Amino acid sequence: MNLLEKLDTNERLNLEDGMALYELDLFTLGQYANARRRALHQDKAFFNINRHINPTNICKDICKFCAFSANRKNPNPYTMSHEEILGILDNSVKNGITEVHVVSAHNPDAGFEWYMEIFSKIKARFPALHVKAMTAAEINFLATEYKLSFEEVIGKMIEYGVDSMPGGGAEIFDEKVREYICKGKVSSAEWLQIHELWHKRGHESNATMLFGHVEKREHRIDHMLRLRDLQDKTGGFNAFIPLVYQRDNNYLHVEDFLSSTEILKTYAISRLMLDNIAHIKAYWATSTINLALVALEYGADDLDGTIEAEAIQSAAGASSAHGLKLETFLELIETSGFTPVQRDSLYNEIQIYK
Ligand code: SF4
Repeated sequence: MNLLEKLDTNERLNLEDGMALYELDLFTLGQYANARRRALHQDKAFFNINRHINPTNICKDICKFCAFSANRKNPNPYTMSHEEILGILDNSVKNGITEVHVVSAHNPDAGFEWYMEIFSKIKARFPALHVKAMTAAEINFLATEYKLSFEEVIGKMIEYGVDSMPGGGAEIFDEKVREYICKGKVSSAEWLQIHELWHKRGHESNATMLFGHVEKREHRIDHMLRLRDLQDKTGGFNAFIPLVYQRDNNYLHVEDFLSSTEILKTYAISRLMLDNIAHIKAYWATSTINLALVALEYGADDLDGTIEAEAIQSAAGASSAHGLKLETFLELIETSGFTPVQRDSLYNEIQIYK
């Protein structure tokens, strides 16, 4: 069966098919991805009202692509107090957020309790707020630092109030690329193992892929296939998020940056390859809001959220430092021809804006 026949009949695609998809012209590829996206979600564009908090940027790791951690290029180390975090959330909750997204660097001086008590204090003050927190990389860091098993760290996360896990730290699973861009951080196998353990405890997570740096197309397809295999086992990923590499203030010397065509093709291909993950998120903080809106025609169905504030991508040049106002967000989605659907963190629909 040739590739187009496979696409027409929704056959599962393999590595060779994924590579061949990149050779299709953008219009043809987009038509197939858009058809799949509309069959799943019609003209809905999902988003949530959320706040990102990055409590510390002090990190024992040295990922080459990172502009967030405190180092020579970003000599502003900080660690927030829990009171500071709760104070920020007082305002954010008044503004209507339903989710707080907490991701930290790997700070060996902060202490295990500092990491965990953030969550219990948030839950104590805002019981209805969904806490999305702790990447697999953070879990691996805490397990290594405090000589705990992954199961033990996950058990503590649940005990302290984490509801779901973000997808960060996946970067690119190919071991050679990973060795070059983020040596020493959680391995691919560990990242997948941690998410599998989290899913087995009955919780959901996101999965990411950082692309547009030194990886090749085949590494992206391989990354998607490893996620698809785990999803077949657990069903615990609710969204896949291709993150576009940000070029500023880091130590990864990338000469060629991706074209918008290549970025849109990657969204479209992820929609077609990941037949078992419900949502493809165009995280506008890394793609720009304009390209994210176009991506809604190329397989993506989710734009993350209003964000409100964000430190990790904006440190590397993204325009997400201050988020987007809800009215602006709604207007942008509507004028792009889609129906904005406010969702909760697990994709239950809260409000459809017609
Ligand atoms: S990407 Fe995360 S783990 Fe890597 S250096 Fe930056 S903050 Fe640390």
